[in-house]
Amino acid sequence: MAAFDKTGTLTKGEFTVKSYTSRRALELAASAEKYSSHPIAASFKDIAASIAISDVEEVAGRGIKCTAEGSELLCGNAKLLEERGVDFTPVQSSSTLVYVAHGGEYVGVIEIDDSLKEGTAEAVKELKLQGVTRTEMLTGGCAERAESIAFEAGLDGFTAGLLPDGKLERAQILKESGKLIYVGDGINDAPVMTCADCAVSMGKVGSDAAIEASDVVLVSDNLNLISKGRKIAKGTRRIVMQNIIGSLLVTAVIMVLDVVIPGFPLFVSVIADVGVMLVAVLNAMRTALIK
Ligand code: ADP
Ligand code: MG
Repeated sequence: MAAFDKTGTLTKGEFTVKSYTSRRALELAASAEKYSSHPIAASFKDIAASIAISDVEEVAGRGIKCTAEGSELLCGNAKLLEERGVDFTPVQSSSTLVYVAHGGEYVGVIEIDDSLKEGTAEAVKELKLQGVTRTEMLTGGCAERAESIAFEAGLDGFTAGLLPDGKLERAQILKESGKLIYVGDGINDAPVMTCADCAVSMGKVGSDAAIEASDVVLVSDNLNLISKGRKIAKGTRRIVMQNIIGSLLVTAVIMVLDVVIPGFPLFVSVIADVGVMLVAVLNAMRTALIK
């Protein structure tokens, strides 16, 4: 089983503003997003924003909540606004949407674009060839966007709109049918990473919480390295097992011969012992050749 986060893991995490319904919404969002560490926030970095912001709070899997011009400002997905009782009509789109509400009133929506990382589909295909039975995306994002990214990446399925504990619950269900690799990058991925059998994080775009909770860090954020890592790990394990079983067998044979043959020459035991050590070292050197 392999489960993936979406933004920053399967996608580049480099967003750009595609369209917006009002300039006020864009300016409010750009001012607030300066304080967010989420990859979505970077899409506003070139937009002039001068509204003073205070009391910033990142709402995991939802967006950002802060104070602007004395009123509460919300920037995030539809769930963020719904949960705070803002009256608005969600837009249908396969892009990521950032809704903006100020003082409890809906201001507008910004459509932003993030594309699949190069090599994502190949990385997923390679994992399947290696025998990974199910590949699934667990995302806090909306279902429409999740569906199009899951299709492009060639994943078997997706679960959208998940909060950190929702990701954890889904991962626990996946774990019931086999060992789980979880690949993610955000603070919202840290809890699920601690439960996965092997957690992989993104070294470049990854948050500190995800990197600390993971077992493997992909320094280049390249997903193809997961299947390479599995190959190296499996090959190394095979060689270590060969060395352990080989040396135990030779030692056991020599011990038996020593007992049953009277006057068994000592030098044969010594040569066998040193020989096993040399063969094991030479065999271990093969780990460097695993590609
Ligand atoms: P993913 O699981 O896709 O990596 P996250 O769980 O980090 O996404 O976030 C889930 C959703 O919450 C995002 O798809 C986005 O809609 C919204 N979101 C989170 N942080 C922000 C932010 N700073 N600004 C706007 N929207 C945000
Ligand atoms: Mg993410």
